[in-house]
Amino acid sequence: MLSLQAGAVVDKNFDYHVDRFADIEVLRYEVPEYDRLSLNQKKMIYFLSQAAQAGRDIIWDQNGRYNLQIRKLLENIYTNYKGDKNSADFKAFEKYLKQVWFGNGIHHHYSTDKFIPEFSETFFKEQVAALPDSLLPLNPGETRQQMMATLTPVIFDPTVMPKRVNQDGTIDVVANSASNLYGDGVTQAEVEAYYAAMKDPNDATPISYGLNARVVKEDGKIKEEHYHLNGLYGPAIAKIIYWLDMAKSVAENDAQKAYITKLIDYYITGDLRLFDEYSILWAEDTASDVDFVNGFIESYGDPLGMTGSYESYVNFKNKKSSDRTETISSNAQWFEDHSPIDPRFRKPVVKGVSAKVINAAMLAGDAFPSTAIGINLPNANWIRAAHGSKSVTLENITEAYDMASHGNGFNEEFVIDAPTSKLMEDYLYITDMLHTDLHECLGHASGQLMPGVDPDALKENGSALEEARADLFALYYLADPKLIELGILDNPDAYKAEYYKYMLNGLMTQLNRIEPGKDIEEAHMRNRQLIAAYILDKGKKDKVAQLVKKNGKTYVKINDYQKMRALIADLLAEIQRIKSEGDYKAGADLINKYAVKVDPKLHKEVLDRFSKLDIPPYRGFINPVYEPVYDKDGNITDVKLKYGENYVDQMLRLSQDYTTLGF
Ligand code: ZN
Repeated sequence: MLSLQAGAVVDKNFDYHVDRFADIEVLRYEVPEYDRLSLNQKKMIYFLSQAAQAGRDIIWDQNGRYNLQIRKLLENIYTNYKGDKNSADFKAFEKYLKQVWFGNGIHHHYSTDKFIPEFSETFFKEQVAALPDSLLPLNPGETRQQMMATLTPVIFDPTVMPKRVNQDGTIDVVANSASNLYGDGVTQAEVEAYYAAMKDPNDATPISYGLNARVVKEDGKIKEEHYHLNGLYGPAIAKIIYWLDMAKSVAENDAQKAYITKLIDYYITGDLRLFDEYSILWAEDTASDVDFVNGFIESYGDPLGMTGSYESYVNFKNKKSSDRTETISSNAQWFEDHSPIDPRFRKPVVKGVSAKVINAAMLAGDAFPSTAIGINLPNANWIRAAHGSKSVTLENITEAYDMASHGNGFNEEFVIDAPTSKLMEDYLYITDMLHTDLHECLGHASGQLMPGVDPDALKENGSALEEARADLFALYYLADPKLIELGILDNPDAYKAEYYKYMLNGLMTQLNRIEPGKDIEEAHMRNRQLIAAYILDKGKKDKVAQLVKKNGKTYVKINDYQKMRALIADLLAEIQRIKSEGDYKAGADLINKYAVKVDPKLHKEVLDRFSKLDIPPYRGFINPVYEPVYDKDGNITDVKLKYGENYVDQMLRLSQDYTTLGF
């Protein structure tokens, strides 16, 4: 049986709140159990943290070709500013810089829309004019005037590079995305034709095409530029390799040494076969306490879902809570066998679904400052099928979110009545954690494709439908008596807390992240609205769930939780069929019917009600600082963990210490 705190050791005096600007709140997270680590493990965390941050510039450059230059220019203006720091222009400038830091570039990390500066162009020009030449981040051969002619519209003109990742299926998503994953003049049709010619439909173990490549056009021909030691991003990769090599020297065991070696070989060559070999070794090492991800991993930043964004997570086991996920994953076959889908689409043997709960120790690249709370890797379907995958829940991150949210007035404003609020207060923390566990350990790993089905057949809807599949799997089992039988939940009604929150979020509160007049685009948000709107629609006749009015405000009301579970089962079966058969049309129909459009009246109401609460729609984290202590011979005798840094100081320090690509 688990307590509500799920084994957590919470320091009530820990200060989670760091900074607040625009639609963002920056938090810090605690690293519990750090003191239990050995000196070698602490050194490992230090070296891996260095490797993690060494790649920082890569994500900035992947997100947009001018990001590194703009970052340096803004930082130099900021640190050399001599004027009135209370002036409206300076305050707006500081806000913009904080946003740019948070987005790892000039686009919002989530909506991928370009930030709109609230300071004047005149202010900007004056500040640049005040900088001496030595403080200008100029490209080779570039003059001050040329730099300004390029960067001014990139920063100020809303029609220039307006969106980092454009998912609008009716236009050329490659040509209309501002990210730097494709070169000038490259079109979606050209990229698709290029990779179609490369893919062998009969290859049972395909590499992750395009994962570490920028696609460019040279003399009218499409080709890849690979990320590796002597290729694109070489100087950053050289530093990553250096620190990975240091980490290897204190690896916990031979299995870990072997996967670090393979990762280094991959970084040296850029050979995606080596990346697959690394991924297999990594997925199979479930014994190591300290662990990490470092590479080009998730492809949400690519409108075609191929190129991986640089990210790194350094972590170690949260021993107390890992019991929970080990129980779940050791019963993986039972969950697969009882899944409410066509038996043909079930995996006959679910292999090595491992799961553990971890404490994040360092977040970097695309995982910083905004981070996931659960990770399930590797991403390659055939590796997951043949060798299993590793699934982790970042407990100290979830905990920081939860602790920082207490008393913010959300439940009072949006939850329909006191009993539902009480249920959420008592059970939402544990059911949220379980939802993440089930989503990551079992949901993504479940099901199989029919022979010959292209894993990319669902195209631009693939990510949203895959997230829906994993969420539905998790939701379905949250209400299963099996969880009580396994001792993971102690109350058969606990799941209702998560069901209520899911409907509330999917139908209403997540709209707080959308600007008025815009559609839903991000994959996870589409998935949530898809599920919630489907339940609302299909349950209309039986009044399973409703939107009701009380005192002029809209509330989610759930009348029949068991029927809601049955609708979850129906939708899971259909989405699994769509994935297993590669039914693009049916997937696109579901997405278009339920996941994209927003009711403008309800949207406005949600925004108004939120604005009174001052709850930031997005949150992220700064990292703690690891400080090695050396003896007189230069040996590390300890690594101290420190929390006190603020957001601005951390960002400036990262730019100071980890600039590898150019400026
Ligand atoms: Zn997922």
